[in-house]
Amino acid sequence: MADKKTNPSKELKEKLFSKRKNGWLRITAEEKQTVADYCEGYKAFLNAAKTEREAVVNALVLAKAHGYKEFDRNAKYCAGDKVYRVNRGKTVMFACIGSEDIADGVLISAAHIDSPRLDLKQHPFYEDSDIALLKTHYYGGIRKYQWPTIPLALHGSVLRADGEVIDIKIGEDEGDPRFVVSDLLPHLASEQNKRNLPDGITGEELNIIVGSCPFADDPESELVKLNVLNVIYEKYGLTEDDFISAELEAVPAFAACDIGFDRSMIGSYGHDDRVCAYPSLTAILETEAPKKTVITVLADKEETGSDGNTGLNSDCLRNFVWDLARCFGADGWNVLENSECLSADVNAAYDPTFSSAFESRNSSYIGYGVVVTKYTGARGKSGTSDASAEYTGKIRNLLDSKGVVWQTGELGKVDIGGGGTVAKYIASMGVDVIDIGVPVLSMHSPFETVSKLDVWMTHRAIYEFFNR
Ligand code: MN
Ligand code: MN
Repeated sequence: MADKKTNPSKELKEKLFSKRKNGWLRITAEEKQTVADYCEGYKAFLNAAKTEREAVVNALVLAKAHGYKEFDRNAKYCAGDKVYRVNRGKTVMFACIGSEDIADGVLISAAHIDSPRLDLKQHPFYEDSDIALLKTHYYGGIRKYQWPTIPLALHGSVLRADGEVIDIKIGEDEGDPRFVVSDLLPHLASEQNKRNLPDGITGEELNIIVGSCPFADDPESELVKLNVLNVIYEKYGLTEDDFISAELEAVPAFAACDIGFDRSMIGSYGHDDRVCAYPSLTAILETEAPKKTVITVLADKEETGSDGNTGLNSDCLRNFVWDLARCFGADGWNVLENSECLSADVNAAYDPTFSSAFESRNSSYIGYGVVVTKYTGARGKSGTSDASAEYTGKIRNLLDSKGVVWQTGELGKVDIGGGGTVAKYIASMGVDVIDIGVPVLSMHSPFETVSKLDVWMTHRAIYEFFNR
């Protein structure tokens, strides 16, 4: 007969059951302050880097301050050297040379720096009913109804007819004008209300209002458009045809801010995937003497499938690793086959308001730490690289041994949707890859929300991966 004071079931549960606990309950008051301080730097990065080009520029400023120099494939490097390579201003790769033989592999952290937004079409300008507007083609997976009636800023670059590249950023500084997509008033929306949510606003209705004042009292047509083009010409020397060779992105004009009475979260445009790009960057910048050579890649074009020569479905990362290998007389393919990667991208945080989309036992939760995602994909894991049990175990043990707060997460219920990351493109080079990242509420919306604790734990996970 069992002693009355013992409870064998409770003891066995203690031994056998998985233990989940909110991350805030697992860190000290001192570490809470570290989390808050780290996230101030992250918010500054978010506000300064709303496009992939701006992310590259800002990442380089931080990296150069940490001693990073442009990579020269014909130079000789030794342990501790820090190099970078920029691919067309939209993807950047950093490497810190390790003390061990590069032939034994490198450690890669890969995140993306493009985010869903509204791109201008090549002939964007038109006038209708004395209003000047811009035609757009949305970039990445957006819910189109979320984009009207919010302040927008315009960012990007235009190659002028004379060959000069003009960088544009309007709507971010105090006193700047903003732009906006309109929506119908509820009083007149009875027909629009019958549409299904995906068509509540259609792609061709995402037209940005940019002016309403005519140039002059002339018997000419399109005088409002003329006035807008004149303002642009006087400021930038651009004509309408210059916009044919432009990459202009309309992004939300608001800044990142704390969310909640307890300030435990951050709301911002573009967490996906700056919330992993920034930790990938800070982790390598804090790494001084790694055993293996470590690489952080911040890539473009993930949101449209990683295609194009600045996406990770190109050879840009492979070529960088091969060139590094060549500096040490190693074979690039051999280095890659011995390499490991954390594909750092966001996951969907469990949302109690929309709980029916999630499977509660296997979702990631705000504040429960960095998410380790073994597989992504959709409809029977299609399009995933699915990390092996061995590699998943290796990362699990690393995080546990270093006291990193982490959790697992699958993106929503089976067959309700799905998604992918750059993991499969890196896996196809023979590298061991697993997805890690930050759970996000309202992912791909103009204003996404994350937990500060999860941002910090993603930094810690990548740092410990690089410095093991
Ligand atoms: Mn992403
Ligand atoms: Mn995304």
